[in-house]
Amino acid sequence: MAEPSLPHLSFICDCMLGRLSKLLRIIGIDASYSRAATGKDILGKAESESRILLTRRTSVLKGYISTPYLFIHNNNPELQLREVIRHFHLNRSDCAPFSRCLQCNSLLSPVTHEEVAGRVPDYIFNTVDTYTRCAQCNTIYWPGTHHDRMLLFFNRCFSGELSNNPLAKRSKQ
Ligand SMILES: [Zn+2]
Repeated sequence: MAEPSLPHLSFICDCMLGRLSKLLRIIGIDASYSRAATGKDILGKAESESRILLTRRTSVLKGYISTPYLFIHNNNPELQLREVIRHFHLNRSDCAPFSRCLQCNSLLSPVTHEEVAGRVPDYIFNTVDTYTRCAQCNTIYWPGTHHDRMLLFFNRCFSGELSNNPLAKRSKQ
C-alpha cells in the first residue's frame, strides 16, 4: 500500500473510531471523522480528501480498494492509537500536541487575552493568559488541568505506556 510521506499524513476514521480520532487530534495528527454509514461513502470521502482510511469494519474492505487504509485490530482506543503510531512509524517530531481542535480537527491559532473576554469563565479569564481558538468552530482552548493530563498522555504515547488516557473518564468500559 502506498503511503504519503510525513508531514502530510492525514487520516479519516470510520464511525467506529471516534475516540481514536480525538486521541490523534490531541497529539496533533490530522484526523477527520466520518459518520458515513456505507463503505462506499467513506472510501469516496477518503479518496476525495486524500486521507488514509482507519477502519474497524471488515465490510468496508471487501473487494478492490485503491484508497490507502489501515485495518485497526484493537477495541481499546489507546491500543488503537499505538497501532497507528507503530504502523506509520510516527515519532514525537511528527506530532504537534494542542495544535488541533478536538471537536472538528481544524488547526488552532493563538488569540489575545482581550479577544476571549466574555467567552471563557471569569475565573479562567482572570488567571490564564494564553489561549488558542479554532477558526472553524470557534472553540477556545487554554492550558489547564485537562491540558496537563493530555501532555502526560502525549509523553506516554512515545514511551510505550498508554495507560493514562485523558478521555478515560468518558470511557464506557
Ligand atoms: Zn473546531
